[in-house]
Amino acid sequence: MTSGPFSFPDISAVPLLVQALKRLEAGFSELPNRSAEPDDHAALEQILLQVADRLQDNFPYFHPLYAGQMLKPPHPVARLAYALAMWVNPNNHALDGGRASSALEKEAVAQLAGMIGWEHHLGHLCGGGTMANLEALWVAGQLRPGQKVVASAQAHYTHSRISGVLGLPFTSVSCDRVGRMDLKALENLLEQGDVGTVVATMGTTAIGSVDPLADLLTLRERYGFRLHADAAYGGYFTLADNLHPETRANFDCLRDVDSFVIDPHKHGLQPYGCGCVLFRDPAVGTLYQHDSPYTYFSSTELHLGEISLECSRPGAAAVALWATLQRFPLMPGGEFACRLAYSRQAALRLYEKLQADARFLTAFPPELDIVVWTPQAASVSAASTLAREIFHEAGRRSLHLALADLPVSFFDCAAVGMEPDRETVTCLRSVLMKPEHLDWIEEIWKLLDEATQASLRSR
Ligand SMILES: *Cc1c(COP(=O)(O)O)cnc(C)c1O
Repeated sequence: MTSGPFSFPDISAVPLLVQALKRLEAGFSELPNRSAEPDDHAALEQILLQVADRLQDNFPYFHPLYAGQMLKPPHPVARLAYALAMWVNPNNHALDGGRASSALEKEAVAQLAGMIGWEHHLGHLCGGGTMANLEALWVAGQLRPGQKVVASAQAHYTHSRISGVLGLPFTSVSCDRVGRMDLKALENLLEQGDVGTVVATMGTTAIGSVDPLADLLTLRERYGFRLHADAAYGGYFTLADNLHPETRANFDCLRDVDSFVIDPHKHGLQPYGCGCVLFRDPAVGTLYQHDSPYTYFSSTELHLGEISLECSRPGAAAVALWATLQRFPLMPGGEFACRLAYSRQAALRLYEKLQADARFLTAFPPELDIVVWTPQAASVSAASTLAREIFHEAGRRSLHLALADLPVSFFDCAAVGMEPDRETVTCLRSVLMKPEHLDWIEEIWKLLDEATQASLRSR
């Protein structure tokens, strides 16, 4: 892995933006000149510097010592392409509002479909994973009206909320000891009947566990439900070459689901505002049919607004994603795939260190790149308090972790004599999404060690 010195994301490429803007402008040279008065630069400067000051009130999401929540910096190619597109500000609702960016969106989405082996599909970008899942469940509800949506207890909370919005009944299925959907519990539910859709989470948001998709497909044959994969977080990991064989096998089944969701703004190096929903059967497009008296007149080709629930959408998001895919094609063994593998390797390394240290109690090994652990203490409530203290002490040392409340059943409390006086334990959580995290594990460990010592001393 090549890793140079860095702190802030690369700004040395910013002058390329001006060069590309001039090239873009050249395409409109037959327009009559207009005297574009430059805005008052002194005022702009003052405002921009004020914004820069205000923005300093942030955690350093772009730095490897930010190892807390699910935040990954967009790649410079995405930032620059997005900014370039902003001078046109295309709207990917209709070709009338964004011709080139709609074409780029179709190409980029086809590459995401191709990543899981789909040659044919129907799909588009949307605001994020929430909107993408909403569309998938809306389509599911159209095809299975009034039937239940089920997802695991570790699935994103958005599924129960979206089901509420759509007026579909929702049932949560319990998880096994490693945070995957419990197949026995699901089958009990299936036997009661009336399950229209099962949501498989391919990388849960809290712990990165992957539902047993291969087994779910077998159950689909018997019970005939729709199978939707929420791969908003984990989808790109299908490219990584260092998954556990079981995880690998489940990702290899992605091509057989009815619909799936992936968030380029999570692991795909994009700015926020970039989710994607994909359907295996393009015929679901007919469900979207609507009349719009004022939008679709410039072309008889497909306007993306004809196959999406959202109307106006940023064409710049599609441009940024397309540009990023030029730089990082979605190939197993490619540069992007290797970077994802580094993230999982970093998680495994941190897990091994935690496991070998008697001050901590780990859950199961990370399936993707998320590690959760709790300090050992006399009771689960004492461990939870201590976890919060370590979280704050780490923050003081510029190591930014996250916290998560998880079922105590994920941890072998009995083995370390920790009294299970609560049903959930507050854990420390680290999402190691940046490939650089692998090089920073020793530093992260050193700061975690110091933070833990400080927390234990103050008891
Ligand atoms: C993040 C996430 C969502 C929600 O996506 P947003 O882009 O935040 O709207 C849904 N499901 C899973 C598994 C996620 O990780």
